[in-house]
Amino acid sequence: MTYRIPPKGVLERAVLTVMRRRGSVGSLGRLTELVAHEVGRKDPQARIGPERLRRLVVRMDHVRTTIHTRRGESGTLRKACPVCGASLETVRNRTLDGGAVDLQAKCTECDYWTGRERRVPVRYVFHLRDWQF
Ligand SMILES: [Zn+2]
Repeated sequence: MTYRIPPKGVLERAVLTVMRRRGSVGSLGRLTELVAHEVGRKDPQARIGPERLRRLVVRMDHVRTTIHTRRGESGTLRKACPVCGASLETVRNRTLDGGAVDLQAKCTECDYWTGRERRVPVRYVFHLRDWQF
């Protein structure tokens, strides 16, 4: 069976339609289902992967993504964002007494950040940021 990978604009429109209708969606799996259903009404052969959808949605202005994480192992700071693939920027956080410096890595495109002890993304919650557009 043939299938088609829908272009970015089609996905973004479908995400906005879904989000306007629901306000928020509690997981990436659910969002993928809803968007696939929406796109599938016009293009039954469209196939949507959760990875691509996540990378696209976390960069959309009208959607706020809350990233839930678990503690991972300690190690060197990551260079690439596990959520959206953008590069991470190293940030030094000085403690209030001016003592120890805590090294963190922050994504330049989305809300993900991590420290030496890795924050591993486990779940995403999506909210429509505003209704006025
Ligand atoms: Zn990111």
